Amino acid sequence: MFLVLRHGCTPEERNRLVKAIEAAGLSVQISEGHHRIVIGIVGEEDRLRDIPLERFPGVEKVVPLKSPYRLASRDSRSSDSIVGVGSARIGEGLVIIAGPCAVEDDDSILLAARAARKAGAHVLRGGAFKPRTSPYDFQGLGERGLKLLRDAGREAGLPVVTEAMDTRHIGLVAEYADMIQIGTRNMQNYALLKAAAETGRPVLLKRGRSSTVTEWLCAAEYLLDGGNPQVVLCERGVVSFDTAVRNVLDLSSVPLVKRLSHLPVIVDPSHGTGRCELVAAMARAAVAAGADGVMIEIHPSPERALSDARQAIVPEEFARLVPELFAIREVLQRSAQPVLP
Ligand code: PEP
Ligand code: MN
Repeated sequence: MFLVLRHGCTPEERNRLVKAIEAAGLSVQISEGHHRIVIGIVGEEDRLRDIPLERFPGVEKVVPLKSPYRLASRDSRSSDSIVGVGSARIGEGLVIIAGPCAVEDDDSILLAARAARKAGAHVLRGGAFKPRTSPYDFQGLGERGLKLLRDAGREAGLPVVTEAMDTRHIGLVAEYADMIQIGTRNMQNYALLKAAAETGRPVLLKRGRSSTVTEWLCAAEYLLDGGNPQVVLCERGVVSFDTAVRNVLDLSSVPLVKRLSHLPVIVDPSHGTGRCELVAAMARAAVAAGADGVMIEIHPSPERALSDARQAIVPEEFARLVPELFAIREVLQRSAQPVLP
């Protein structure tokens, strides 16, 4: 940690500060520049946790060196984490998650599951508890939806991921789901994150719609700190001033987060754009950006979908897209090989 002292900081103020740091068992290295004095603190930073250094007279800025997301950080683990969901291994090869926005009835979820599997998806998605902006919109089928999703997944041979919105339902969701999704609106619901960590199920953590990358990684830290290492991050777009698309899909977060963290990162181009005609292009771009997977909303009859009809692609388009995604992934892998002389 570094402390930058205020211009004009008196020797008494500086001494009081140094004494407080040394009393906590740390030592200091003082650098006197032309304009500013900088104090480097040597030792275990955690010992200063309860000392509000920024409130000492003479201190302009406190610059911590430790990341606020220690376990999620690359510093804590040099190799990439791999998260197993049924037979899928997220972080190893390209993993494709597909299914409807919501589980609506037994026929449509089964059709979607079979189509997803046939096209090459590895995991089936579908919401049973739906976070809807209006309370009058379809809220999901609850436990019946969880059952239908699990049964459709079994029938098609796919593990399932579904959202938990409430700590009261987390146990129920964990009973039926192979992976628990924490949605964008709940990314900073710390009680829910702690409860999700306790289930021991893999967690798909969506980026908050107006969250920074640091906040997203700190949310992941709650899961890791809660004892659950099976965390997959999902970029799903952030809010913007532009109403032409539902969200702005921040694909730069993919290579950025892969530098900052060892956790796998996937992309959801469906919520990221909100428009079916943009989904395939952004899925291809996501894979090109280095995503470990994509999550795509598909619906056998989008005109009858009860939620997010505007962004669902039909199974035929999905089936055309999947081989393109694998082809892009292969190009990336080839280009990652060392060039022989
Ligand atoms: C979803 O995937 O069903 C969903 C509601 O996504 P988000 O939380 O990203 O809006
Ligand atoms: Mn949706």
